[in-house]
Amino acid sequence: MQLVIVVVLVVGVTTLFTLFVRAKDIPPAEPVSPTQHLEDRKAVIYENLRDLQFEYRVGKLSDADYQQTKLTLQKELAGVLAEIDRIKANQPVAGKTAARAVAAAPPAKPVIEKSAADPLQCPSCGATMPKPMKFCGECGKAMA
Ligand SMILES: [Zn+2]
Repeated sequence: MQLVIVVVLVVGVTTLFTLFVRAKDIPPAEPVSPTQHLEDRKAVIYENLRDLQFEYRVGKLSDADYQQTKLTLQKELAGVLAEIDRIKANQPVAGKTAARAVAAAPPAKPVIEKSAADPLQCPSCGATMPKPMKFCGECGKAMA
């Protein structure tokens, strides 16, 4: 009987813990950084370099093997760091370009509409007014 209680408790706690951890983990994971996979890769390379250094120190690796592997890892690391820099440098530029495009779009539209439509002509009935008016003198509808 006691075992059942223990099992139920363990399952319950595990479930709660899983739910809690998941609920906590999901929000920060949502806005995934575009460099996240590179940061992960960087961490792995650093870890490999540390392991390599350790293995070399304890005499598991020959000097040549150590230098060769270290060079390979450092090259990969340089590539990953360059890629992170490239993405980070591009990000604000891309954001600015998008913002500029959005900002440029609204003024462009009214300019085209104004030049295309005669402000003195009613868009509803086509009557021409002697001066710009808010409402058409013929049909009473709003002059665009
Ligand atoms: Zn009208």
